[in-house]
Amino acid sequence: MGAVLISIVVPCFEEEEIIPRFHEHVTAELGRLAVDFELVYVDDGSRDRTLELLQERAAADPRVRYVSFSRNFGKEAAMLAGLRHAAGDAVVLMDADLQHPPRLVGRMLDLHADGHDQVVARRTREGDRVTRTLLARGYYRVINRLVDVELVDGVGDFRLLSRRAVDAVLELTEYNRFSKGIFAWVGFPTATFEYQNETREQGRSKWTFRKLLNYGLDGLLSFNDKPLRAALYLGFLLVSTAFLYAAWIVGDALLNGVDTPGYVTLLVAVTALAGVQMVMVGLIGEYVGRIYYEVKRRPHFLVKASNTGTPSTRPSPG
Ligand code: UDP
Ligand code: MG
Repeated sequence: MGAVLISIVVPCFEEEEIIPRFHEHVTAELGRLAVDFELVYVDDGSRDRTLELLQERAAADPRVRYVSFSRNFGKEAAMLAGLRHAAGDAVVLMDADLQHPPRLVGRMLDLHADGHDQVVARRTREGDRVTRTLLARGYYRVINRLVDVELVDGVGDFRLLSRRAVDAVLELTEYNRFSKGIFAWVGFPTATFEYQNETREQGRSKWTFRKLLNYGLDGLLSFNDKPLRAALYLGFLLVSTAFLYAAWIVGDALLNGVDTPGYVTLLVAVTALAGVQMVMVGLIGEYVGRIYYEVKRRPHFLVKASNTGTPSTRPSPG
């Protein structure tokens, strides 16, 4: 494949148990492929020995780069940092927990060579809890009706990006990063292949139900303003219903005389409408909150230690 450089970007948050094995595995696997590669590890503010382990590996192997955050900024920030520091002609994003099998990189490179800018490994949901699978399925069905960019179930961050796709991703400087949406938004020729899901071998997933819920909301809100439009329509619907009901009551009173209606109708109407209004205000609040974070223009992460120079957003030409 000539002098093509592949960067492997690995966000790591408290992965001391698995980093040694991951590193060995990934270097062996890439060594098998006839490519030059670099490993860009991003330590996302781990409090365990993650950074030490990365530094040891960097000292032993010049192909290892690491960036370490001042605190935990989240996987999205870690991936962003990795992409910024990656110098490769193609970049592969991979989790440290070996749930993204390094042996698939060869396949990704083949598909990339066929002219695909994004090569996506889509995992099956085998080994997941049934509830999570069902929730995910329902979620994606609903969300794809709502959002403008298509989000696919099982498609995560395990993917290869060509240099121009990486540059495009880096152009999106939003603070609130929803990678799944960002990758889909960027587009370019994309190939997808499936792989068998592997359960995490060591350590544990840092996803809690609440985090997943918030992630789901982010997916809905980060990429479009359709919920606002929906709120508008719902408002119109309620107002017209109220008008019709009012007309009916007035007509009824004129024809049949004034009746003493129960207060239940009133109570239900008032609480229901108050509820609807709270939801709408919350919805607007979500968008305003996002604007609040965007206008601050804070950096996505702060670096505590690294062995890479200034982040490269562009490749050195030639
Ligand atoms: N990760 C990170 N920062 C975080 C949480 C996770 O960099 O705040 C990394 C983690 O080390 C792993 C990857 O993101 O390499 C995926 O995390 P995890 O396995 O917990 O998520 P899951 O596979 O369950 O989606
Ligand atoms: Mg995992």
